[in-house]
Amino acid sequence: MKLPKFTFGIGDRFGHQGKAQLRALMKAGSHGIEVSPVWNKSNREHNLIGTEPSSLRQEADEAVAALGWKAPYFVDADHINLKTVDRFLEASDFFTIDVADSIGKQPDPAAVERLVAKHAGEPLNYPGLSKPILRGRNEISAAASKFLAAMQEAGEVYRHIATRKPAGSFAVEVSTDEASAPQTPAELYLILAMLADEGVPVATIAPKFTGQFNKGVDYEGSIADFTREFEDDLIVLKQAGPALGLPEGLKLSIHSGSDKFSIYPVINHLMKKHGTGLHLKTAGTTWLEEIAAIAGSGEEGRTLAAGIYADAIARYDEVTAPYATVLHIDRTQLPSALEIASWDGARLSRAIIHEQSCPDFNPHVRQLFHVAFKLAAEAGPKFTDLLKEHDEAVGKAVTANLWDRHLNPLFL
Ligand SMILES: [Zn+2]
Repeated sequence: MKLPKFTFGIGDRFGHQGKAQLRALMKAGSHGIEVSPVWNKSNREHNLIGTEPSSLRQEADEAVAALGWKAPYFVDADHINLKTVDRFLEASDFFTIDVADSIGKQPDPAAVERLVAKHAGEPLNYPGLSKPILRGRNEISAAASKFLAAMQEAGEVYRHIATRKPAGSFAVEVSTDEASAPQTPAELYLILAMLADEGVPVATIAPKFTGQFNKGVDYEGSIADFTREFEDDLIVLKQAGPALGLPEGLKLSIHSGSDKFSIYPVINHLMKKHGTGLHLKTAGTTWLEEIAAIAGSGEEGRTLAAGIYADAIARYDEVTAPYATVLHIDRTQLPSALEIASWDGARLSRAIIHEQSCPDFNPHVRQLFHVAFKLAAEAGPKFTDLLKEHDEAVGKAVTANLWDRHLNPLFL
């Protein structure tokens, strides 16, 4: 299935903000930019919250019907593999095949030979690329020993889905963003070659980029390095995609893409320069709007949010462990639970809300709340009743966050 040029991942952990999220995309539409929503939720998030993929499908369908959304929309089985995909087959029409765990598995030597025989050649020197892509035996063998087994596995997962869903009824993303090291543009080229050989009609690909993409906070790293790499990646996709027979419009996907304010101008500029599309995933940024709004909604909400913070401090290792590689929390910068309990609701809200110019904003507190959604799930109706009670204020914050801080700077 061909994806629209611009797609935007809107994970929604608790499933209450579908309409508020869709309103942000409608605002983009009213400014002349068509961005299609993709409701994404991973197996890990379903397990931590206790939801089923069908609930996400229901949320998406209901939001679309209620607001009369006419353009395409998708429901993403985020970060699935052969073990977890089955649960998502019915509800999803977008599958993010995650093969990062298989990077570095030793491939079959005969398969490496076939790859070399098929793809070895003169260096590729696409216009604008910062350095040519070398395609000698050594380069291809080195890439194969990192990525070939993983891409063969992506092929296996794709065929598993394709034998169970009608052809053309779903879109495929392949992700390696949770690998331990970033992939270079030259490696990206060879990964695409491997996927093409496996017959995977990849519509978006999510490499691990240089720098840190931490949850719910700004990019950390060299913006100059990111700029060079991102532009090289765009050129590789644009030139190599058609040459390798991959689907038209193949595009990059940026995971943990919310709140990366310092690189949005770079992404915006380079997409326009090369006329390329983009998929960008956000998820926890919506939950953070919920908890910040709840904290500021009155005494009951303030107590609940301060209580979640106290639990998160007490169960720090447990709540941070699943996200350890995408967090950068300096624990010395975390106020004590006692101190947070003494704050009024507005003060607590300001610590969480991602306004970098606000002196009360604390990225460490924000990241801890980001991974503490599990504790809100444990609070059950105490939390969800407050969401319903303050539906309008929460929804406004969710829409404004996605439109003002994300879609507008990325696409306008
Ligand atoms: Zn990811």
